[in-house]
Amino acid sequence: MRLTFWGTRGSIPTPGTQTVRYGGNTPCVELRLNDDKLIILDAGTGIRNLGDKLMEKGESINAYIFVSHPHWDHIQGFPFFKPAFVSGNYFTIVGGETSKMTLQKMIADQMNSVYFPIQLNELKATINFRRVGEEEFEVFGAKIRTTFVNHPTFAMGYRITQNGKSLVYISDNEPYDRRSAHEPRKVEKVIIEKYSKNPHNPNQFIFDFVKNADVLIHDTTYTPEEYVDRVGWGHSHYLFTLNVAAEGNVKRLILFHHDPSHSDERVDDILKKCEKEITNRHYNFDCLAAAEGMELEI
Ligand SMILES: [Zn+2]
Repeated sequence: MRLTFWGTRGSIPTPGTQTVRYGGNTPCVELRLNDDKLIILDAGTGIRNLGDKLMEKGESINAYIFVSHPHWDHIQGFPFFKPAFVSGNYFTIVGGETSKMTLQKMIADQMNSVYFPIQLNELKATINFRRVGEEEFEVFGAKIRTTFVNHPTFAMGYRITQNGKSLVYISDNEPYDRRSAHEPRKVEKVIIEKYSKNPHNPNQFIFDFVKNADVLIHDTTYTPEEYVDRVGWGHSHYLFTLNVAAEGNVKRLILFHHDPSHSDERVDDILKKCEKEITNRHYNFDCLAAAEGMELEI
């Protein structure tokens, strides 16, 4: 499998001189499977540049788009994804939904004529939707597993395995804490029930989900100091992210979903602190910070 990062920033695009190296586009990762088959992880603003590259090739496209959840930063690039405007192209959008709103409506609503000149049903490509809960299925011969993670309303994590190699993508996830969970939270009931199951560490199923992955891409929005004022916003600080990687015995951790207020230097600093923690705690994995344009072989 081969990865290319097209968007690494959380919450909102951050163009400018302070974010040149790690990038300002919101989440989008290109995953190439056997025979160059394509899965796109999230449709943040980074998907626009990926779309332009796909258009240059001039081939018809049959690809999957796995959406972690429908918050703006994960879908807002889709209306600017040129291959969706081309007839003969075929996309399957995969993601979770709530009892109140379907996956298709989540994607269509941001293209409502109040907000956008072209509507979803006017796109020329064939676009199918596949709702997922927690399940296992196959895409292009790769094994896919999904799980709900801790994020306002909901978010999905994806585990993709092919040729004995595994990638886990968890773009947005917050450490689950029993005390704060007692306060009113805007999280789907299924998530509260899931986390409440384990009497010891409610985050254990996340550790199990990432177990022995070759690459883990995980939310690292905050420093621990910043997190104190942002409990319940749905994101991780780097100590928790390191904990997930260590407990899951992953081989390589990619820090992802950089906070929009973090300059390149701040992300460098977070990476350095992570490397120091890894050494001090005798953890046994590599750590990188996701950067736009970065490519990785799994
Ligand atoms: Zn996000």
